[in-house]
Amino acid sequence: MKIPKTIPCASHEFKCLFIKNLIRDAGCRGQIIFPIREVHLDDTLEGTTLASVFWHEVFHMLDRIYCDESIGEDNIASLAEGMAQVTKSMGITFER
Ligand SMILES: [Zn+2]
Repeated sequence: MKIPKTIPCASHEFKCLFIKNLIRDAGCRGQIIFPIREVHLDDTLEGTTLASVFWHEVFHMLDRIYCDESIGEDNIASLAEGMAQVTKSMGITFER
């Protein structure tokens, strides 16, 4: 499955962009920038790592918009790993 170019969430639409050297320059594999509604993913990610980073940023989006940031980083990390397992078990692989 291709990573979507945009992700709708409530009345918002987040752009999903692959960023060259994000890990080197920002020190993270993915990030979500709420003021400009963008999800950034390092452009070297693939396979289950791409899936878990993608889901991680999606859960940050859901947490901020629907849960008043009550889920927290540790639970977001766990949920993202869980969703990466679930989607993999369904035969869904992620690609650019
Ligand atoms: Zn996080």
